[in-house]
Amino acid sequence: MQEFRADLHCHTTYSDGTKSPQELVELAFQNGLLGLAITDHDTINAYPSALPVAKKLKIEMISGVEFSSVQGNESVHILAYSFSFDHPIIKQFCLKHHQRRIDRNREILARLSKQGMPITEAEVNEVSLLGNSHGTIGRPHIALAMIKKGYVNNLQEAFQKYLGEGKSCYHSGNSFTAKETIEIIHQANGLAVIAHPHLIFQQKILHELLELKIDGIECYYAKYPLEINQRWLKIAKKKGLLITGGSDYHGEIKPNIPLGCSWINEENFRKLHDHYLSNIKKTTQS
Ligand code: AMP
Ligand code: ZN
Ligand code: FE
Ligand code: FE
Repeated sequence: MQEFRADLHCHTTYSDGTKSPQELVELAFQNGLLGLAITDHDTINAYPSALPVAKKLKIEMISGVEFSSVQGNESVHILAYSFSFDHPIIKQFCLKHHQRRIDRNREILARLSKQGMPITEAEVNEVSLLGNSHGTIGRPHIALAMIKKGYVNNLQEAFQKYLGEGKSCYHSGNSFTAKETIEIIHQANGLAVIAHPHLIFQQKILHELLELKIDGIECYYAKYPLEINQRWLKIAKKKGLLITGGSDYHGEIKPNIPLGCSWINEENFRKLHDHYLSNIKKTTQS
């Protein structure tokens, strides 16, 4: 029998991934995944076109989204899962992020311009496959526009020199704290999970996050080896938190991270899936 594996962290063209929702689900099928969550940055717009394909290919999906937030002076990502797509609070929160990103991207473009690298919003929208009206535009799109204009040679250079956290053209624009984000996810009956704790720089910030009312930790992440993941598994088990995991697949933007390179087993997936089903049932009954 096929081993049950679920990848709960990946991106589509609705944010900074390079595969459409349909292509992503088809790839999940090819890679032998039986469970999947799409976690685009600050949007759930990929789901209407992903769900029918998943149903046809018998891949079980749960709702998902990756919200940017701040804790102290560090940028932190919070994954939301298992909410109902129709919940107005999730929809509103995505819209607020959309607006926040418009302002933030303008600020980043202004900083680039000051440093002699002018780029228009239209030029940034052009490199995104969907543009700003349907998808989320973020730093990777700005980096791609910088490459196109010849300001940098590759994505890494754009982040290392200008766009990375703390670099000259970085602007967090993150108006929501991790605590606020978790509260909003809970108001929408969703589950709040600390994304890739592996990447949290300051131990102090990590400890603060673990004191918040989180439901789970992304213990398995990208290509990190089990020795490193063990640290997060231990904390999740000790605190009785959900164990989640996923590749953070972005397609060609991060070519060395294949879909399904991190995953969770059926036991862990069922806990999130059961929560999802109970939310979906509530919506269809009301
Ligand atoms: P944003 O949501 O606009 O803050 O952009 C965050 C996204 O940028 C992350 O999810 C990654 O996909 C990408 N990213 C962040 N840091 C780097 C980096 N150093 N090199 C390449 N991509 C990066
Ligand atoms: Zn991303
Ligand atoms: Fe992230
Ligand atoms: Fe991600």
